[in-house]
Amino acid sequence: MSKPPQIQAIKGMNDILPPESARWEWLEAVVRRVMAQHAYRNARTPIMELTQLFTRGLGEVTDIVEKEMYSFQDRQDKHGDADHLSLRPEGTAGLVRAVTEHKLLYDGGKRLYYLGPMFRRERPQRGRYRQFHQIGAEALGFGGPEVDAEMILLAVALWRALGIKNWRLELNSLGQPDERRAHRAALIAYFQQHESQLDEDARRRLHSNPLRILDTKNPAMQALAEAAPQLIDHLGEASLQHLAAVQGILRANGVEWRVNPRLVRGLDYYNLTVFEFITDSLGAQGTICGGGRYDYLIEQIGGKPAPAVGWAMGVERVLELLKEEGVAPPEPAPDAYAVIPDAAALPQAMRCLQALRAEGVAVQMHASTGAEGMGSMKSQFKRADASGARFALVFGADELAAGEVTLKALRDGAGAQQRLPLAEPAHWAASLKSTD
Ligand code: ATP
Ligand code: MG
Repeated sequence: MSKPPQIQAIKGMNDILPPESARWEWLEAVVRRVMAQHAYRNARTPIMELTQLFTRGLGEVTDIVEKEMYSFQDRQDKHGDADHLSLRPEGTAGLVRAVTEHKLLYDGGKRLYYLGPMFRRERPQRGRYRQFHQIGAEALGFGGPEVDAEMILLAVALWRALGIKNWRLELNSLGQPDERRAHRAALIAYFQQHESQLDEDARRRLHSNPLRILDTKNPAMQALAEAAPQLIDHLGEASLQHLAAVQGILRANGVEWRVNPRLVRGLDYYNLTVFEFITDSLGAQGTICGGGRYDYLIEQIGGKPAPAVGWAMGVERVLELLKEEGVAPPEPAPDAYAVIPDAAALPQAMRCLQALRAEGVAVQMHASTGAEGMGSMKSQFKRADASGARFALVFGADELAAGEVTLKALRDGAGAQQRLPLAEPAHWAASLKSTD
């Protein structure tokens, strides 16, 4: 029989395995801690939603909805109807749907965060994948500028807790719909004047969504976009005051920013404050977090109107940045490695190990490959060393006959060799636990 060909992962979708997965767990633990400090609570929504949630929520003429979504038709039910489904390309629309569906805002605003995979059919490259992960925070039901600022400060607190230093903050205001309409007219007139310089995307968007043209990634169009009429010049008093209030809070917190009038974000649902955290350490994929206010999204997807603000950060990019900055999370290692010279000792040894684990000690047991016995002491100690454990516990025949186990230090400073009573692991378990 010929060997079947090996099956590989889908392009742009990554396996996250040890030792890399430990970095993910560390980051997630930091995120949970910082979110709790800011009183943000966890929310989990499905990875698939009805396609119309995204077309309605994100806007038909966005990169994501036009070309990046994984969408398909579900099987027909017994009436011959079939749903159009999409893998979620982002987390906000689903969260807003859930909050609306479950009337979470009935007793006031809610602060929520999520963590999980998103799917976009983009060209895979460093920092850009087809399954990638976002951490997102959303504050729903709050309209004041102080929550915009709280959101930004929350992201800054995360950078601090993670040890990330190379970031800068860009800020803009997209104003309100009426202000955008005035700007839109000016934009269309401007781009029409320069129609010959527009690329295909821009031409298509000229009348459907000219603001999107400012977000172009086409280098040939940068100068044109740069010189386009700016939304900030069309903002009224209230919008300007909202922006100024956010800035006042950032200033009081020692957070620096730059106003970037061309920052429009890739989705249609934003108004007033928008922001991005950008790093210079990751090349072209330098945006590590982006967000803003979206006061009209809840209504747009059928909920009772309520203001909201949020951001999402790209986990892969943040982890890459941590590497660039030399931040090394602690490598996980068991406290002790169980060396078991003879399989006859396994029942007694494993009973002791379970008791130690119940006391909070992390223990790795030597296990055979199955073909031959437990393996030589030498090879077992080699494994013990490689595990990173501070101690070896040796369950030899001599020890067991005496009702004991030998504790051996594998690292300097872990103490002298000693015999311990096998029957009372709870009495000595604490001495094996690492202090950090
Ligand atoms: P970009 O301009 O890089 O395409 P975006 O504006 O499409 O980003 P958002 O929709 O705002 O990104 O998502 C928030 C964050 O998620 C981004 O700032 C980025 O860190 C991350 N991100 C977005 N798309 C991807 C992807 N395909 N692979 C990895 N991370 C991504
Ligand atoms: Mg994108």
